[in-house]
Amino acid sequence: MALKESEAIVLRTYPLRESDLLVTLFTRLEGKVKGVARAAKKSKRRFGGALEPLTYVRAIYDDRERQELARLDSCEVIESPMATEVSYPRAVALGHVAELLDELMPDREASDAVFRLSLAVLQELRGPKLWMAVTYFELWMTRLMGFLPELSECVVCGRSLNGSRAFYHALADGLMCADDKRLASSELSHESRMIAAQMLRSRVSEFAAIDWPKPVAEDLRKFLLQILERHIEKKLVTAGMLEKI
Ligand SMILES: [Zn+2]
Repeated sequence: MALKESEAIVLRTYPLRESDLLVTLFTRLEGKVKGVARAAKKSKRRFGGALEPLTYVRAIYDDRERQELARLDSCEVIESPMATEVSYPRAVALGHVAELLDELMPDREASDAVFRLSLAVLQELRGPKLWMAVTYFELWMTRLMGFLPELSECVVCGRSLNGSRAFYHALADGLMCADDKRLASSELSHESRMIAAQMLRSRVSEFAAIDWPKPVAEDLRKFLLQILERHIEKKLVTAGMLEKI
């Protein structure tokens, strides 16, 4: 059986039996792969520190015949989020990235665009500032999954929303003008729509120097999370945790 080697981001680990770990990796080679790391809790040589969530690793694994789970042979750390201090808010933001990747990416389907996005956003999540990177990641994941509606026109009447108010609703796709909005809609501010348009044209690193407190684009994040949760048909655990920070 041929060993496969790929860059990967560790998404989750679960204890399995006495000393094994079940590991979910997002690999560059073939997308999300679940595997078993045998004796991972004992073998510091093969896995020492490399299986912490959101660690960027070089993984070596192979597929066993007639078995769904790969066998993880070894993992070497390329970059660890543990290299800088992990405060609670930062841990939640990192967990959010992991949960979105785990929930949105199908098994064994490579996406170089999502992989590069994830690495770029993890770079921006090294310090105490979180909200810009979280917003950028949610926006681009929504776009790359093909869920992002047109932000500049009303989904009902087609009228341009540039220069006018825009509304969204948990059960509707897309934005609506003031005439077509449903009951209990929320408003997506002009400012946040401008931020989204700019983010869709720019690299995440271009926003790194900007001071970005939580209220900035909060309505945009709510809009995006509603879209994502509608598609995965469940609530994101980390969305609620982020809200409370
Ligand atoms: Zn309309």
